[in-house]
Amino acid sequence: MKKKVLVTGGAGFIGSHLCRRLLSEGNEVICLDNLYTGSLDNLADLTVQPDFRFVKGDVREAFDYKVDQIYNLACPASPLDYQRDPVATANTSYLGAIHALELARKRGARVLQTSTSEVYGEPLIHPQKEDYRGNVNPIGIRACYDEGKRMAETLFFDYHRQYGTDIRVVRIFNTYGPRMRQEDGRVVPNFIMEALENKDITLYGDGNQTRSFCYVSDTVGALIRMMNTEDITGPINIGNPEEHTVREVAEMILEITGSASRIIHCPLPQDDPTRRRPDISLARKQLGWNPQVTLRKGLEETIAFFR
Ligand code: UDP
Repeated sequence: MKKKVLVTGGAGFIGSHLCRRLLSEGNEVICLDNLYTGSLDNLADLTVQPDFRFVKGDVREAFDYKVDQIYNLACPASPLDYQRDPVATANTSYLGAIHALELARKRGARVLQTSTSEVYGEPLIHPQKEDYRGNVNPIGIRACYDEGKRMAETLFFDYHRQYGTDIRVVRIFNTYGPRMRQEDGRVVPNFIMEALENKDITLYGDGNQTRSFCYVSDTVGALIRMMNTEDITGPINIGNPEEHTVREVAEMILEITGSASRIIHCPLPQDDPTRRRPDISLARKQLGWNPQVTLRKGLEETIAFFR
């Protein structure tokens, strides 16, 4: 059945893939984005579609649309971006959550919050399960994002308990794919651009820290499943449990691109988590979801896009 769907942050990397998928499944989509990290280029093919509407706006201010579903993605997600104006980042998470929840309450809509693996901070439990409460440094340089997203989760569950708001919360682990910005600052676009331009590969720290990378089509599939599953609130981890060291990612990108770049070591940023891997048993069981795209295949697609 055709639904009216609002996607905040819909001009961003994951948001634009989500808008595209929702439209292809026959829905009406409103995309709200302030274009801080999002871009109209990501939506170029969508703006001509009659069921798509782009609105330039900021979730730190209240918004009102007659919709059935709200996906709340608006927030810079790359450490480079979210640390540039940390006060704005914290406000975007906090006020964006309130405004999305107020709209859901007013319109009787279902609202999905895209939370993050960052709520686990520097995890002391590995892999991370949803019942792990995390180890976040509340005064560090990542806290504007981590604590902002934690506060948003709190608000979602308080609205659910206090007002009966129909909520869904997912915790997204590292996601990559086409339409990440070249200057995004995260590891995959950085390494790919460096490799393609035969520049030094900037490995932070010793490169033994791990991440688990999920291809964007898998992530988007999980968001849609979560939204359309009944009697569930989450939080549910969404990510690919295949864990790699950052050095392995650099080597794989060098191999696929055939680049002559060499790897150099740069200082490890403050509070950079040492290990990260989702336990996705809950997503498998409750959503029947499992990521399909291997890191190699996903990197090949992403490299083709960056070329
Ligand atoms: N990283 C790196 N070189 C880069 C960018 C990132 O070695 O040019 C490392 C970073 O220190 C971290 C991992 O790659 O350990 C993932 O960083 P990213 O910024 O992509 O996301 P995070 O998972 O830290 O939020």
